[in-house]
Amino acid sequence: MKYYMPVKVFDEDDCVARHADDMALLGSCALIVTGKSSAKKNGAFDDIVSALRKKNIRYVEFSDVEENPSTDTVFAARDRFAGENIDFVIGAGGGSAMDAAKAIALVLCQKEADLAYLYDTSKPSDALPVVCVPTTCGTGSEVTGVSVLTRHDRKTKISMVHKVFPKLALIDGKYLVSAPMTLIVNSSIDALSHLLESVLNSKSDDYVRMTASAGLRLWAKTRDILEGKRSPQKEDLSLLMRSSALAGMSIAQSGTSLPHALSYTVTYDLSMPHGMAVGYFLPGFLSAAPQNDRDELLQLAGFSGIDDFSSFIKDCLKNVVISADELEHSFETVRANQAKMKSASFPVDDIVLRKIVGLGDQCH
Ligand code: NAP
Ligand code: FE
Repeated sequence: MKYYMPVKVFDEDDCVARHADDMALLGSCALIVTGKSSAKKNGAFDDIVSALRKKNIRYVEFSDVEENPSTDTVFAARDRFAGENIDFVIGAGGGSAMDAAKAIALVLCQKEADLAYLYDTSKPSDALPVVCVPTTCGTGSEVTGVSVLTRHDRKTKISMVHKVFPKLALIDGKYLVSAPMTLIVNSSIDALSHLLESVLNSKSDDYVRMTASAGLRLWAKTRDILEGKRSPQKEDLSLLMRSSALAGMSIAQSGTSLPHALSYTVTYDLSMPHGMAVGYFLPGFLSAAPQNDRDELLQLAGFSGIDDFSSFIKDCLKNVVISADELEHSFETVRANQAKMKSASFPVDDIVLRKIVGLGDQCH
């Protein structure tokens, strides 16, 4: 067994302000990577800038990261900032900004890197140090080495092969105060899928189950918020962020499995948010899993059984429908990827995969 999670994680109120010293250890010029506007609205950007100013750290800003960031965006950032002597990169936002920050930190360090480099395991993975400040509660990117990137040339999303773990994760639930409920719901379903897919995974072990079980117990406390039964309080926002980080620590060891693999073409083709696209395949995936594992996981997450779980997901996804053609496309893409077919903890052949996808014999 192996457990590798080399990120210094701080999870507390006013986390960014409290850890200006830790950022100062990383250098004297920072590149702040964000999406178009949310980091400025939710306070993360201002907190980062005041922490940097306090320590006399110069900064430049790249705020062009789109949802499901593309490799094109990564190289556009490199072209713009290659001459700036950047010492470290701060990704502030959801998974898109944080994933983009990791890939930008890699290509700023590896000056000759091109698109092929991102997918070449024989090339060095050294990157500039990365700090992540999450503002959604789903991806756990602040504690993983993964950067999921849109490949327009392939019309799908493919993670770069290099693992770039952040040096620092600065987690503070306050950045969720301004988040719309749909974003909280979609990203929490992503976190839930990480917790479930890491355990129902051929690479699962006791360490993965430890972080995933803790994450599922915390996640269960927030379920009624996602169902709209009560409004989130300050402590709830912290719990949402924390269960997402524990989910990230779990997939950092195991990787994800079939719901994530199936979601990528759906997200590309239909522009469906990541959590929603992944969530669509979760009931089918759980239905196909061995009953003991399924029951244990559902109980930890606070569900009475698979029917309770399926109707929860349906409600959260607002009964979204994906066409049979689109589902066939997902099925064919994953079926052609033997490594992904073997990523589940249980045997998956074409028939089982069709059921998970919801084609032929319906599972959900
Ligand atoms: P996201 O794509 O980062 O952000 C979605 C939207 O939410 C954007 O419009 C963003 O606005 C906005 N937003 C972010 N924080 C907000 C806040 N606090 N208040 C209001 N709006 C806010 O969403 P995400 O679900 O966090 O990330 C999805 C990406 O992460 C996908 O590309 C997925 O593949 C990837 N992912 C990575 C990992 C990993 O381990 N690295 C794991 C799972 C998923 P702005 O654009 O203005 O910022
Ligand atoms: Fe995910």
